[in-house]
Amino acid sequence: MESLRFKAINDLTSQANGLEVEGPAKITGIFGENVFTLKTAREFLSDEAYKSLNASIKGAKKIDRAMANQIAAGLRQWAESKGVTHYTHWFQPLTGTTAEKHDSFFTIKGDGSAIETFDGDALIQQEPDASSFPSGGIRATFEARGYTAWDPSSPAFIMEIGLGKTLCIPTIFVSYTGETLDYKAPLIKSLEALNKAAVEVCHYFDKNVSKVVATLGWEQEYFVIDEALFNARPDLVLGGRTVFGHSPAKGQQLEDHYFGAIPERIYAFMRDFEQESYKLGIPLRTRHNEVAPSQFECAPIFEEVSVAVDHNTLLMDVMDRVARRHKLRALLHEKPFAGINGSGKHNNWSMATDTGINLLAPGKTPKTNLMFLTFFVNTIKAVYDYSDVLRSSIASAGNDHRLGANEAPPAIISVFIGQYLNKVLNDVKERVGGKFDEQDEAILKLDLHRSIPELLLDNTDRNRTSPFAFTGNKFEFRAVGSTANCANPMTALNTIMAETLKNFKKDVDALIDKGEKKEIAIMHVIREYIVASEKVLFEGDGYSDEWHQEAAKRGLPNVRTTPLALDAQVSDKAKHLFESNNVLTHVEIEARHEIELEKYIKKVQIEARIMGELATSHILPAAVKYQNELIANIKGLKEIGMKEETYANQKQILVKVSEHVNKMAEMVEKMIQARKKANAIADTREKAIAYCDTIKGEYFDQIRYHADKLELLVGDEYWLLPKYREMLFLR
Ligand code: ADP
Ligand code: MG
Repeated sequence: MESLRFKAINDLTSQANGLEVEGPAKITGIFGENVFTLKTAREFLSDEAYKSLNASIKGAKKIDRAMANQIAAGLRQWAESKGVTHYTHWFQPLTGTTAEKHDSFFTIKGDGSAIETFDGDALIQQEPDASSFPSGGIRATFEARGYTAWDPSSPAFIMEIGLGKTLCIPTIFVSYTGETLDYKAPLIKSLEALNKAAVEVCHYFDKNVSKVVATLGWEQEYFVIDEALFNARPDLVLGGRTVFGHSPAKGQQLEDHYFGAIPERIYAFMRDFEQESYKLGIPLRTRHNEVAPSQFECAPIFEEVSVAVDHNTLLMDVMDRVARRHKLRALLHEKPFAGINGSGKHNNWSMATDTGINLLAPGKTPKTNLMFLTFFVNTIKAVYDYSDVLRSSIASAGNDHRLGANEAPPAIISVFIGQYLNKVLNDVKERVGGKFDEQDEAILKLDLHRSIPELLLDNTDRNRTSPFAFTGNKFEFRAVGSTANCANPMTALNTIMAETLKNFKKDVDALIDKGEKKEIAIMHVIREYIVASEKVLFEGDGYSDEWHQEAAKRGLPNVRTTPLALDAQVSDKAKHLFESNNVLTHVEIEARHEIELEKYIKKVQIEARIMGELATSHILPAAVKYQNELIANIKGLKEIGMKEETYANQKQILVKVSEHVNKMAEMVEKMIQARKKANAIADTREKAIAYCDTIKGEYFDQIRYHADKLELLVGDEYWLLPKYREMLFLR
């Protein structure tokens, strides 16, 4: 029987260039057509209901029952006009994917007649069967079930799957005892904390500011491979990453993929998922090849964080679905292929006022310069004080393959700001004895507005190896993994910023109370913060050994693995941070920590099982068959009287194959024993460490080493698993 591998390769050569995708004449023609935008709401809601929805989106007011009924009716009317029969509460549980449970509008009344209905109750609250979502022990201890609650700040949308259409109501997910069980709820709370703290600081400069929102523009990296090849790789199917595979003769060393044209089949896929995204209101703007072969990236125009988070999780769903339509698979894993660049999801983050000011954009006047410097330096201070919290917010089994594994960026959290701003901060710092007077306005009269963007746009002043880089009018958190839900790092970032700004306000007010002039007081505290946090600033090569040594000298944490990085989530410092800012309670923090650890354990456990299975059921049989072939060959040559040297080479290969097979099998057996031991550990953290240090740390690389050697030795026709060269270069 032909192996899946060869069948996939054969089928590929007869593949056409992919589905024809007909595009709209203009993106604006379809943009947001499946979203219940305020404009649509205007059309389908009464004045009263519209006002109530609008006020609630702005965070001002709760929606009452009567209004909810009206809004629900309008929503249903809109959805039905588009052929929708079902609705679902859509939420983002801590599993990392999205969840939905569909209900139809259809119901039977008491008199037996059938009607279509959707009322305020159904809009506001639902009870999904939550028992299978992770709760980190909350439900065991407190309450067995939870409910989803409507989040009006995120617009409802229609998800089209094939010909089926479902109205999706964005919700948060809460346990009956009130603990949040999803990614969105704490995010929304962190935005509120940031809003409050940032508005107060803005008032030093501008009394007209009444709201500050955080903005996020993510950049999603991913790989695309042929579906048949994907299906012939059980490790990709079950774990999202290849646990075996020798690096191909040609990898990314030529860097010819980055600037290359997008292959036609992939291009059709991209256009298709982009169109689906546009309909859902996801403002995608860029697409291009990434560094590694078969790696790509897309990025939208930035939006308010909460909406941007929804859009990113939606996009990941859409990509997966549309890829299948094209007989392709989108791989979102941080490291699907060893030895080849991994995938990240840069989170570009800033803050914007309701008066239209980007708080991280350098100002045009001395006053706005001071405002910029304030928020800029506060961000640096926040990252310095809470770098461990930030690190923990992006810790995952997948991301461990990037952070701390000699790949971009390192696990050390540092901040890159560019030469020019370094000089500005230095000038501020160098004021003798920290004294400021009127003449110091010289600093603020600098043409920051023009100089900084110009300098940063110049590539020589950019740094691609920094995990947290200032890029002219925003910070780019580059260490986030490609599968991550952005809500996690964004919640951390918003909260540490809120905390830092609160302290900043206290420090400045204390000086003002002592009789200091406002601007001078602000400059003093800015200077103090620069001095306190300058250790986190780093302009050099983040990958270099020198930096690792230097960072250690500076006392910056460098935590390479998830189980240990997660410790910072439950430190007293972190608990105080999240609790005092009303983002997460003590119980929620502990529960989330437990969930992340369990997720880690399960991921490594699954990989370990796949490794064992593939070694035994795929690699070993191929090696044995090839051995038999060699044996027959050697025997035959011997039998007909050929000299030893005519089969010396075959004999040598036979010896090598035997050695690798035996070593691989031996390590697999040992790993199974180690797993049994790890599984017996009761403490979750200890168990995660065992999986990390022992199972993964001691066995994965060794087993892989022998398997990959066998891939090179064993005759190609015996090999069952698609090889890297096939997955990465055939499409
Ligand atoms: P690059 O960093 O590759 O040069 P851009 O500067 O255009 O590209 O921005 C990259 C990403 O940063 C985009 O996704 C964009 O939406 C986002 N971005 C730009 N400005 C902001 C902002 N003020 N807040 C958040 N994200 C932003
Ligand atoms: Mg970028």
